[in-house]
Amino acid sequence: MSAPRGGVLLVGVGGQGVVLASAIVADAALRSGHDVKQSEVHGMSQRGGIVSSHLRWGPAVASPLIEAGEADVVVATEWNEGLRALPYLRPGAPLIVNLHRVVPPGACRDRLGGRFGYPPLAVDALAREVGDVRACDAVSIARRVGSPKALNSVLLGVLAPLLQFPDHAWREALAAHVPRGSLPANAAAFDAGRALRWPEETWAQAGAAAPSPNGHARRAREAPAALALTEAWCKGRACGICVHACPELCLAIDARDRVAVVRPEACTGCRLCELLCPDFAIAVHDPFTAARR
Ligand code: SF4
Ligand code: SF4
Repeated sequence: MSAPRGGVLLVGVGGQGVVLASAIVADAALRSGHDVKQSEVHGMSQRGGIVSSHLRWGPAVASPLIEAGEADVVVATEWNEGLRALPYLRPGAPLIVNLHRVVPPGACRDRLGGRFGYPPLAVDALAREVGDVRACDAVSIARRVGSPKALNSVLLGVLAPLLQFPDHAWREALAAHVPRGSLPANAAAFDAGRALRWPEETWAQAGAAAPSPNGHARRAREAPAALALTEAWCKGRACGICVHACPELCLAIDARDRVAVVRPEACTGCRLCELLCPDFAIAVHDPFTAARR
């Protein structure tokens, strides 16, 4: 029997599937017999901007908007967006948060030293403030079971036991909304998220996370980094975030409107391109940092 009414706030940055996740929760609520209202805010979402979705369900819902202190759960696909959404959380209610961090260019103060004006991964302090924190590295979990792009399904798997919609409602909603070819990866990611145990998983995964978002703190380049681009996931000229963000001008848009690595020798391995790419289309393999991740 699902809860008679409730409200969930989903937050993250563009490309992480917040809107899709919200549609799946809304559909699962509908299939559980509830009235549902949902609203979305997505500004520059294609360029990694913030995205949020308010969702409420019950016998009759007048408005989807959740006021401060009213959310029964906050689901954050990005660490800092989870912190920013804390005021919405009802006292004692759970925060589900991805340990993955997307550092805005303005917060990158020292690309060689790896210093960022970005909130530290202070899970202890967050747990003291919130109480029930369910934090996991959803990207790594999703990658392990199929595709990193299914990170939102991992977090839905964490959410599912809290909302108590019937299992068939979740499965049908998932199948109705994710692209057909990616259903196996999303279903596996959902199951992986649902299998996590709390609070043990929070401490295990927070302990394994790199202390700085780009995973290193070096001052001088010691060996060239290698860049791997997954063209099928890259939006090329329609996005161009990595091209504009690279401080060393290593990347460019080519004649096919695709991203090309034009100055590989200049790459410092700062991972800014990887951290900002909303589609997991670029990865930096840095021999120096590999041992630390
Ligand atoms: S690789 Fe660059 S251009 Fe392609 S999606 Fe990622 S950030 Fe955008
Ligand atoms: S290509 Fe990526 S990792 Fe290399 S310098 Fe540019 S932003 Fe940093």
